[in-house]
Amino acid sequence: MNTSTEPGLLVVRTVADLRRAVAGFRKAGRTIGLVPTMGALHEGHVSLVKGALERGDVPVTSIFVNPTQFGPKEDFSAYPRDEEGDFDKLRDAQCRIAFAPTKDEMYPGEQLTTVTVAGITDGLCGPLRPGHFQGVATVVSKLLLMAMPDRAYFGEKDYQQLQVIKRMVRDLAMPFEIVGMPTVREKDGLAMSSRNRYLSAEERTKALGMYKQLVTVADAVRDGTKSCAEASAAASQALRDGGFDIVEYFTVVDADSLKPLEHVAGPARVIAAARLGRTRLIDNLAV
Ligand code: AMP
Repeated sequence: MNTSTEPGLLVVRTVADLRRAVAGFRKAGRTIGLVPTMGALHEGHVSLVKGALERGDVPVTSIFVNPTQFGPKEDFSAYPRDEEGDFDKLRDAQCRIAFAPTKDEMYPGEQLTTVTVAGITDGLCGPLRPGHFQGVATVVSKLLLMAMPDRAYFGEKDYQQLQVIKRMVRDLAMPFEIVGMPTVREKDGLAMSSRNRYLSAEERTKALGMYKQLVTVADAVRDGTKSCAEASAAASQALRDGGFDIVEYFTVVDADSLKPLEHVAGPARVIAAARLGRTRLIDNLAV
């Protein structure tokens, strides 16, 4: 095995190899930035690697499609996987370590321990995806403890997830800094997502409605022309009229507590989830 501090991307599959590789960089005086992903990488993921590089961290990207965060009727088996393509993108992005464990490496034997973050998981995706955030919090805890980074990078694209991780790290006094990074969008505004690969050409056109309505609602509640409830109800209807099959939620929430707001006074987020055919899209914007 080449030593971890040699140039290029080192692919590791076991926790022991990950720790050896990280230790090599630490010995050379470097700090570590973890980027947890489920693969099928796009420019959104790459922006997290860049965020780590900009802060001087050695980027470590994990690629693991975590079964415990998918519900029984969700797309775990269909979730896009492209490991070689992912490694190429990570090489281009100057990522230094890719951690791509098997399910048995992540969950060896019977697992009796989970991490649950209450409160901020009560709304939005929480009740719609029972067990999802527990799966996320548990796997992210494990990844953090496996890599022991200085910082870990998460996208604002998954805003509730980012808040859950920040809260978990705070409540459990985990010694890692959580860095939230802005959402990377296609030229027309659609938030990049691995799940966008599911969209047909026709659905791709309709999908843009989500971003447009987020902008409309953010503008309306910012300048006070509409209440949060009015603006959100109009946006939900516009999405249905525009071909979305189900609008799971479209709402304005406090940026930290994620509690629904009637009027915007401090930092807020307009946030939505909706289904287009078999694809579930989520997105959000700062107000
Ligand atoms: P995923 O592979 O979808 O689980 O995402 C892995 C990480 O990439 C999460 O922290 C996501 O929030 C982040 N991410 C996904 N899409 C984007 C995007 N369009 N812009 C920025 N970050 C993203």
